[in-house]
This record gives sequence, C-alpha cells and structure tokens, in this order.
Amino acid sequence: MAQIRIENVRKDFGSFNAVKSSSFTIEDGEFFMLLGPSGCGKTTTLRMMAGLELPTSGEIYIDGEEVGQKPASQRDIAFVFQMFALYPHMNVGKNISYPLLSQGMPNAQVKKKVAEIAEILGITDILNRPVGGLSGGDRQRVALGRAIVREPKAFFMDEPLGALDAEFREHMSEELRALHDRMGATTVYVTHDQLEAMQMGDKIVVMNHGVVEQFGVPQDIYDWPATKFVAQFIGSPSMNFLDFNGTVGKGTETVDLGGARIAVPRLLDGESGALTLGVRPEHVYLSDAAAYRGEVIATEYLGTTQIVTLKTQHGQVKVRMPSHLNVRRGERTGLDLDARTLTLFSASTGHALR
Ligand code: ATP
Repeated sequence: MAQIRIENVRKDFGSFNAVKSSSFTIEDGEFFMLLGPSGCGKTTTLRMMAGLELPTSGEIYIDGEEVGQKPASQRDIAFVFQMFALYPHMNVGKNISYPLLSQGMPNAQVKKKVAEIAEILGITDILNRPVGGLSGGDRQRVALGRAIVREPKAFFMDEPLGALDAEFREHMSEELRALHDRMGATTVYVTHDQLEAMQMGDKIVVMNHGVVEQFGVPQDIYDWPATKFVAQFIGSPSMNFLDFNGTVGKGTETVDLGGARIAVPRLLDGESGALTLGVRPEHVYLSDAAAYRGEVIATEYLGTTQIVTLKTQHGQVKVRMPSHLNVRRGERTGLDLDARTLTLFSASTGHALR
C-alpha cells in the first residue's frame, strides 16, 4: 500500500515540454485515474511515478520518501502494460510464478501463492495451458496475475483494456475494480476514456497539453468543472456553452442572454466582458413559459432518454430528457436552465468563476 505525492513535476523532451509543473496526491489504496486526450502527458506522468522516466524537475514521494531520481527497480511497484507482455514459451502458471522464482522464493511457497492468485482471478483451470492460444481476457488476467503476485505497493496501468472490444472491456473493467477492492493496493490507471474514468476511479486527474486541469472525485469534476476544457471533455453529450457579454460577480442574480433574464448561481469571483454560460444537457428543461427560446432541429432516441437538439440564438443546445415526452422537429419552445447547476466561465481564460 502506498501514498504517492507529485510536487511541481515537469518533464521536457529536448525543447518540448510534455508535462508542465504538476502537483497532486494519490492516497493509500485509491483507484486513481489519469485522464486526458492523446498526447496530453498522462503516460509520461505515469512513467515518471513508476521510475521509467526521470522528471526534469520536481519531486515524487512514495510513502513520504522522495524517489524522483530512483529507477523503477527500487520503487516496489508493478506495471501492467496495454500489450500483454507475457512470456510466450511458458504456460500460464509459469508466467505468474516467474517474478517470485526470480526473487528466489522457495518452490512450495510459490505454488501456494500462484494457486491463491489463480483463484482470485478465476484462472485455476487454465494454469497448465500455453499462453499462446488464450483469449484476450485470459491473457489480461494472466498479465494481472503476474503483476499482483509480488504484492507490490502500487500498480501502474497504462490503458490496460485498450486492446479489448467494447463488451469485454466493460466486463474486465468491472473485474479490475472488484480485484482492487479485494486487494486494496493503490492503483494508478491511464485512460483517454472519460466514461471509464468516471466509472472506475475514486479520484481523477484531468490533463490537457501537459497541464493538470482538475483533480478530484468524479462527481465533483462532472458537477463543478474547473475549466471549459474539463466541462467539454467529461460527459456525453458534453456541456452546452452559451457565449454572451455581461458582468457577473458578488450579488449578481440574473444575466441577460439575448433579451431573456436567466438566473445564475451566486459567485464570489467577478468578471466583465466575454463570458460563457455552461449547462449540462440534463439540466435544461423544455417549457413553454421560459423566456429563452429555441427551435427543435433533431431528436435522438437512446432508450430511456432522448437527446433533443435545439437551435438558439447562441448556437445549438442539447437537452437530455425522458423518451416518453413527445417532442416534434420544427417546434418552437422555451428552455428553462436550472440556475443551481450552471457554471460561468471567463471566455478569455476558460476558468470557471466561483
Ligand atoms: P497517448 O494516449 O497518445 O499515449 P499521453 O497523454 O499518454 O498520450 P504522452 O505519451 O505522455 O501522452 O506524451 C506527451 C507528449 O510527449 C506527446 O506529445 C509525445 O509525443 C511526447 N513524448 C512522449 N515521450 C517522448 C519521448 N521519449 N521523446 C520525445 N517526446 C515524447
């Protein structure tokens, strides 16, 4: 078990700055997600924690000990790669026992340990099979078995399910999470899939262009995005953005959105000029009485809910609502925005005003 703390960590590759000064803490036993689009620096951040890459500056602490310049072999962690790096000439049991045998653990103890791990992963019946003919899921389980058998302080996983098809991926992500809950070891997991991060993570760091945009529990990141980037990257369909000019700050109760008065949350921060009002699709309600108007241009049926797209004077707005409500294309209606759930952003910095 391990607490991992990153302080002002930066990574340059030559003149390219891949990770800007980043700081966050992963608590002991957490399932922690590094989330962001391709190239944002999440793999580099993970590799620095694991000791596979050295930071250009800043400190990395594992259980209070500064390990930033120590190699991976001195950090007592296990890395699970996306590509299942198994030994092809060994059977399942040998693949899992290899790390223990190479540490010099006596044979009888190794056997007991491997049997335990196989039981946890549900692969007891394939221990004697060659790894060559295994399905993707079983290969993943063997790779996991090999990582957890040493009982490392922490697990580092880089898109471990990336190569699996959608259905199997969901199944394996549930298994992984259940395995973590049984074992309780700190796990750091890289993904570009916001849904996977929300479903699996205790906490999430959202990165973009080498910068930590936000760090927190999934619900806070979803409900209270710190930046426009986070608001857009998390949630599907993403948050609606309505650009307007105005003044907000302490005491502001409403803003003028193209002639309609819209109630907004109370803020401490203030700003004048170009602003953006953000609202999630499930927090917009169609109501004839509402002053802010739009025209229905599309509906998308999703089973229990539907996504209705409206054309407004601020561009398209998507609304998530129950499927049984009848909405006709071409209909003009009012849009009621739930004031308690709105986020106001500075258009110049992209930061949320609080
Ligand atoms: P992906 O999901 O595509 O792997 P990522 O968020 O994990 O993206 P990184 O792999 O951390 O991103 O890469 C961040 C940036 O640093 C990218 O622009 C990448 O090209 C660059 N980079 C990574 N490793 C090196 C390296 N060894 N030398 C030079 N540039 C690198």
